[in-house]
Amino acid sequence: MKTRDRLRIAMQKSGRLTEPAQDLLNRCGLTFRQSRDKLFCFGEGEPVDLLLVRDDDIPGLIAQGVCDLGIVGRNVLNEYRLTGGRDEAPLAEWRALGFGRCRLSIAVPQELDYQRPEQLTGLRIATSYPGLLGEWLQQRQIDAGVVTLAGSVEIAPRLGTADAICDLVQSGGTLVANQLREADVLLESEAVLAGAQTLPTDERGDMIELLLKRLDGVIQVRESRLLLLQTSRGSLDAITRLLPGGPQPTLLPLAGQPDQLMLQALCAGEVSWRQLEEIKKAGAREMFVLPVEKMLA
Ligand code: ATP
Ligand code: ZN
Repeated sequence: MKTRDRLRIAMQKSGRLTEPAQDLLNRCGLTFRQSRDKLFCFGEGEPVDLLLVRDDDIPGLIAQGVCDLGIVGRNVLNEYRLTGGRDEAPLAEWRALGFGRCRLSIAVPQELDYQRPEQLTGLRIATSYPGLLGEWLQQRQIDAGVVTLAGSVEIAPRLGTADAICDLVQSGGTLVANQLREADVLLESEAVLAGAQTLPTDERGDMIELLLKRLDGVIQVRESRLLLLQTSRGSLDAITRLLPGGPQPTLLPLAGQPDQLMLQALCAGEVSWRQLEEIKKAGAREMFVLPVEKMLA
């Protein structure tokens, strides 16, 4: 295949992952010019282009070298790893992205008293994930029938084409509407950055490494808050003990007030009103909680 010098990222054209994936790439400093057919988007600042496709096509596009990276559900990536072409490049999950969370679960009719996987022996299970389900059954040495369906898996038990299903669950609402109940979890899923296991050795490899660093910063700041406060040296220990997790705080002197300090702490996650009130009781004043815009370690 002709080598490309621009990096190509595949993402879902329209669906649950589209908006958060686009937002994530924008936060990494990537912007794209949308083409008329909305399939290929040319990257404006960096040499990175976007391919908008069905999520199911993403692992194959990477394995065949058409794209270098893809943003796709772990469920789709792992299914492809089990069922995809044998002579293709092996795929890796480079980063978990924290959105598109769901579970791949076994669901059974509400009246079935499910206690353990062995009860599935002899049943027909409908799924769009024959690879993952087959592996799970095999690991437990359960002999059940796998009925592969492309969609509308949840109505199979009512139609009598299966006894149970293996499908994605988020809130469980769809299951309840179909008189089913979640019985066992096969896989905890979220959107991931997928790519070949070995990075290209040319400029594209360098670009991927740069992108991974930016991504780590973006993922980290998404959850980070900067806490600023003033305190006297005497209250410092009590306050430090109350600070929500994160690296050691930074202390700065306050001009003309030798006993007073300004404390600056990076917190991993939200800082609640309750936490602020406790820290204030321990002797803090002038407290600020700020979102973090960018971070580069
Ligand atoms: P496409 O047209 O791209 O094939 P799709 O219908 O397969 O779209 P979506 O329903 O948009 O895909 O789901 C994309 C991904 O979102 C799933 O593969 C999964 O990783 C994740 N996801 C999160 N919650 C759910 C859910 N409740 N149901 C289905 N997928 C979910
Ligand atoms: Zn799909």
